[in-house]
Amino acid sequence: MISCQSITIHRSFIGNVRHLVRTFMTQGFPNSSVSSLNEEQIKGKYDIIIAGGGMVGCTLACALGKNSVLQNMKILLLESSPNKKYDLKKEYSNRVVALNQNTKSLMNSLKVWEHVENMRLQPVRNMQVWDACSDALISFTSSDMMGDDIAYIVENDLLLHAVNTELTSPSVKNVQIVYGAKISGYKLTRETSDCNIVKLDNGDTYLCDLLIGADGANSAVRNAMGVQYLSWSYDQMGVVATLYLAEECENTTAWQRWLPQGPIALLPLDSKRSSLVWSTSIDHAKELLSLPEEQFVDSINDALWKEYPRNSAVERTLRWLQSARALPPSARAALRQSRAAFPLGFGHSTRYVAPAVALVGDAAHRVHPLAGQGVNLGFGDVKDLAQLLSDAVYQGLDITHHSWLEKYESVRQRHNVPTQLAVDLLHRLYTWQQPPVLWLRSVGLQLTHAAEPLKKLIMTQAST
Ligand SMILES: Cc1cc2nc3c(=O)[nH]c(=O)nc-3n(C[C@H](O)[C@H](O)[C@H](O)COP(=O)(O)OP(=O)(O)OC[C@H]3O[C@@H](n4cnc5c(N)ncnc54)[C@H](O)[C@@H]3O)c2cc1C
Repeated sequence: MISCQSITIHRSFIGNVRHLVRTFMTQGFPNSSVSSLNEEQIKGKYDIIIAGGGMVGCTLACALGKNSVLQNMKILLLESSPNKKYDLKKEYSNRVVALNQNTKSLMNSLKVWEHVENMRLQPVRNMQVWDACSDALISFTSSDMMGDDIAYIVENDLLLHAVNTELTSPSVKNVQIVYGAKISGYKLTRETSDCNIVKLDNGDTYLCDLLIGADGANSAVRNAMGVQYLSWSYDQMGVVATLYLAEECENTTAWQRWLPQGPIALLPLDSKRSSLVWSTSIDHAKELLSLPEEQFVDSINDALWKEYPRNSAVERTLRWLQSARALPPSARAALRQSRAAFPLGFGHSTRYVAPAVALVGDAAHRVHPLAGQGVNLGFGDVKDLAQLLSDAVYQGLDITHHSWLEKYESVRQRHNVPTQLAVDLLHRLYTWQQPPVLWLRSVGLQLTHAAEPLKKLIMTQAST
């Protein structure tokens, strides 16, 4: 009788033998594009090169490196910034992300989550979103998530450090990282039997079978693929800062108020501090950055509390649907030098794959931060791509097998595109101030608030 385990060994053995033969062939008999290169500049040949070591690229390197089926793959991660030493400071960083349950489970499987927990994170157990131009609101609690936390607020650099701690641990043996590696060009293969060529600005050159672009919204890998990229700017900037609250509290609620120029959100950090993400017009963002600290804090409190003109038709309808609104905290001060602003835009790459190339994270898709989905979508890409590559090798196929890469594209686009469109629609609904739109969104929000199954459905979509 053949056991499941022997099938596993057999299949991944075939995959790995095929891979060794291919490595030998490309090293022994260089293909046409490789033969034209200066040999001294070729620093190595890898099975997989990941271009970009941000949160998504590093997590992908860690997921591939920890996958037992892929243990014979030589993987290289190239990151342009230097390898910075991380110190957990007393003060919080101004860049944070809200991580959903799906991301937590990925990080748990990679043993990254325990590093995050050993440093710091703040659970979000309640969430309230309300309209400044009407009394409409929607709120969520852990019970809409079957008792799970809604999200976790984690600093970007802390998460990256936690991922890198695992990536550089003895449990990962086949991933090499080069920091300060600014990639200046790619020569992509048109055939999967050929190699991709990755060139750094210092002339160093690397070859690989599979190239993965994790190089962010302005992805040069995506440009080299020559795929269509649908994008637009929201003509908004996201102003961020670390805030001290006027009063200490449990602080496990995420607050978001929709103002005519865009949403202001307070994400909990600890009992005394919250992180600000205020999406607003570019001129207003610049003004907020230049205000003296006291006026900046006053603007935040105004944005959270100020009464805006009301529409009587909306008021009349909402009277029938009224529900209690919790009061948000006020800010007392902003941490010095924590203010910064980032341009906000939408981006969708019509293709996530090309022969022997794949895109992950912001390189493939970019969303408005109003729903805290951006990096969570990227971590979803990581989970699915690592699984599909491992399945391909397990079946005895090459990691560049096109139908498996296409499966990755199809699975991810089916999840990412509807989420991106829903976030974009929300943004539009809340920036249009015409009375019929205001009526529709206020009543729609209030009805959704009352419909428990619909709320659960929204939370399920947002956490996967
Ligand atoms: C204000 C704001 C708030 C946000 N809040 C949330 C939130 O709450 N939840 C959420 O899920 N998402 C949030 N996001 C989105 C999230 O920050 C992004 O989705 C995430 O950072 C994308 O990660 P990435 O690794 O794909 O890309 P990036 O972070 O852009 O990383 C790309 C990496 O590639 C490297 N690179 C680029 N070019 C080269 C090159 N030529 N050579 C070598 N290396 C290169 C870069 O140095 C970088 O390290 C927010 C975004 C903003 C602006």
